[in-house]
Amino acid sequence: MFFRRKNPFSATDAFPLSEAVMEFDDSSSVAVRPARRAMDGMGPQGGQSAVRQWLQAGGLISLYVLALAGFVALGVVELRVLAALCALVALGCGVFWVVFSTGLYKKVRHRHLKLAMVATAMAAMLGVAYLAPVTQILLAPFAFVAVAYGIFTVPRTALLALTGGLLALYGVVVGLHAVQQPGGALLRLGMLHWLALALSLPAFIVLMGRVQRLYRSLYHASRKIKNIQEDAQRDPLLGCFNRRYILAALEEQKQLADESGIPLCLAVLDLDHFKRINDELGHLEGDEVLRGFARIAQQGVRGGDVFGRYGGEEFLLIFPATTLLPALNTCERIRAQVENHAWSGLLKGRVTVSVGVTQYVMGESVLEFFSRADTAMYLAKEGGRNQVVVEEPVARDDSLLPEAAGAA
Ligand code: GH3
Ligand code: MG
Ligand code: MG
Repeated sequence: MFFRRKNPFSATDAFPLSEAVMEFDDSSSVAVRPARRAMDGMGPQGGQSAVRQWLQAGGLISLYVLALAGFVALGVVELRVLAALCALVALGCGVFWVVFSTGLYKKVRHRHLKLAMVATAMAAMLGVAYLAPVTQILLAPFAFVAVAYGIFTVPRTALLALTGGLLALYGVVVGLHAVQQPGGALLRLGMLHWLALALSLPAFIVLMGRVQRLYRSLYHASRKIKNIQEDAQRDPLLGCFNRRYILAALEEQKQLADESGIPLCLAVLDLDHFKRINDELGHLEGDEVLRGFARIAQQGVRGGDVFGRYGGEEFLLIFPATTLLPALNTCERIRAQVENHAWSGLLKGRVTVSVGVTQYVMGESVLEFFSRADTAMYLAKEGGRNQVVVEEPVARDDSLLPEAAGAA
């Protein structure tokens, strides 16, 4: 006769938390600097994001090249200018490729990299405008595109300074054109373009500052949501998964097992005479035992296994895609590690765990599955504690699971 728990699988216990949290580029923020590398798409986990950024930059460059090719096709720009641009693009790509392939980018802040990319693009466009004055028509719109490319990463002041540099150099180009082709018409046209750019681009950057702020606050909000979601899954004392998460994971694994037919095992782990440890050594020492146990258990399981605190000094260990024998072996290993762990002082030789383990039977309820593991754990207590007991699954359709039968 064993104590039966009331149904722990009520709907409110196991609601799924949304994973749909947006990721934002963080590199313009000082407050969240420690997380910058991982989030900026250039860090070790940002491979995909880096590729996306390369594609984006490549796409924008291609648009400019395409526009210039159109000018060449219309006969207003010589082919050599297009060739010079292609050479410049190849050179720029080569430099950035070296920066990325040698890992140099890790030493450079993301915003500085982007600033360099925007500055390079502007310099290349100025070079083309110098070689083919008619391409000044392209300068203003593509300068906007370049600024828009960097707006979420590069600080506003840096973009304004860059715009100042662009305008100064553009003024030099206009002056050089006036010297090379005296007559006034080209000079006037150049000055008009210069004026249009000088008045509109800084205004655009200033206005976009509001979008930048909005973008940043969205990023911070998403980070906070992520942290809250993670906290909601974790036990505050032990750092392992909490009851809500572990029960939701069990429900999910049961569904997966039903759909795929792959085996699933569950263990209930309960520290032995834990009340005595608390009573004799104090609750702080008891907390330390809980932490030590959670560490041992988490280190003793495979990547896919899910370990969490069910409550108090009771834990669940889910073994997805695992038959009874390997699950039993893992439980036995954890039990032995807990027993043989170098517990400090008075704890030595006093910390043990009783474990009940069982395998899922297709079609049964999570409650039935859990109860069987729980019963096995109580059998381990009855048998003298500090042991692992297997509760054999009794298969429906009169067909015993071969693995379970072999393991028993
Ligand atoms: P058994 O071997 O039969 O499992 O005996 P036990 O003493 O381990 O079991 P019992 O259920 O009698 O006592 C569990 C104790 O765990 C009682 C409770 O105070 C303690 N406990 C629960 N949560 C915590 C916690 O977070 N920290 C500490 N220090 N103690 C806790
Ligand atoms: Mg106990
Ligand atoms: Mg208990």
